[in-house]
Amino acid sequence: MKVLVINAGSSSLKYQLIDMATEKAIAKGGCERIGLDGSFCKHKANGKEKTITSPMPTHKEAIQVVLDALVDKEYGAISSMKEIDAVGHRIVHSGEAFNDSVLLTDENMATIESLTELAPLHQPANVIGVKACKAIMPDVPMVAVFDTAFHSTMPEKAYIYGIPYEAYTEHKVRRYGFHGTSHRFVSSEAAKYLGRENDPDFKVITMHLGNGSSISAIKGGKSEDTSMSFTPLGGVPMGTRSGDLDPAIVEFLANKYKMSLSETLTYLNKKSGVAGLSGVSSDFRDLSEAAKNGNHRAALALEVFEYACKKYLGAYAAALGGADCVVFTAGIGEHDAKVREAIVSDMEYMGIVLDKEKNAHIGDGIADVTGKGGKVKILVIPTNEELVIARDTERLTKRA
Ligand code: ADP
Repeated sequence: MKVLVINAGSSSLKYQLIDMATEKAIAKGGCERIGLDGSFCKHKANGKEKTITSPMPTHKEAIQVVLDALVDKEYGAISSMKEIDAVGHRIVHSGEAFNDSVLLTDENMATIESLTELAPLHQPANVIGVKACKAIMPDVPMVAVFDTAFHSTMPEKAYIYGIPYEAYTEHKVRRYGFHGTSHRFVSSEAAKYLGRENDPDFKVITMHLGNGSSISAIKGGKSEDTSMSFTPLGGVPMGTRSGDLDPAIVEFLANKYKMSLSETLTYLNKKSGVAGLSGVSSDFRDLSEAAKNGNHRAALALEVFEYACKKYLGAYAAALGGADCVVFTAGIGEHDAKVREAIVSDMEYMGIVLDKEKNAHIGDGIADVTGKGGKVKILVIPTNEELVIARDTERLTKRA
């Protein structure tokens, strides 16, 4: 079976064609500047890379460019569109409507569209991607895989805020959590790796640290708590997002900088985090370079980030009643050894011991970087959200 995985943003569309026999991507790429001048698609297959420039006024043209690239004689991966058995779409929000991936029936599509209010920037873009695909491939089964669904198992005490309960009952204000496909994937990989699959007591704290970062407490494969919140703005400071703040700061900043409410939210989403703190960059490679050269604000940004992550580690160990494993994943979690070291430093008192040498020299695949005498396994596990989407798509289309 071959599954096309689509992740549609407002002006972009990323894709991978995955052969389920090997679970490998046989083609991948992304279209950018959809709806703008100068749209293009970067496509990779057969060890070849090709940039296709073509007008893409809407996502429909973008999908057509992708399909043409996939069947291209020279740089394609399949001989005809008929080889695409199903399409899996990344959809950001499931609200409280779904606790698993679902087939994209008309009814489910309507429910997904009704959740736009909870993710006003992302959900409409995801929906446009599905509609464009359905218009071009009407007979191919399609599946929605949500960022939030994995966290639907959180207990009420973890998802309810300390505000009047009516805000939840009337307006669904609660913690939802994001990066669910990644937390699900790496926690199950960790359980497999440690021979703890199907163990209801296996406690793991997963740290998805990338441009956006979130940390989850997972027990027996179920999400018990997570750091991102009502929106992806909550939790630890990120590349450009502030993370958790005293809510009174919002009005204070709006007054001081003469910003509207929505400008203040943009400030917190796009201009804050380690980028705003350092004044250097949102990229951790740039920050370590600047810190090495004596830039205090860059060094401080790294420290603030590491300290916030460490606090979640302690909090989630408390919430779970201990931890068997800590997993690092995503861009920073997989590649930044110094950040990993700082987060777990001085936690020997709770059985967290890092092998610094192993941590500094990991290869591809899963790395066990637990130090001597460590009771809590520390693993680095490459995430693969596209594979989760493809597997769910296969599972649901086969069942149907
Ligand atoms: P996204 O959330 O956009 O999917 P990623 O998970 O790909 O992001 O993470 C991207 C971030 O990972 C970059 O902004 C950068 O900070 C960090 N990163 C990537 N590679 C490295 C590296 N080799 N060393 C340190 N940080 C890295």
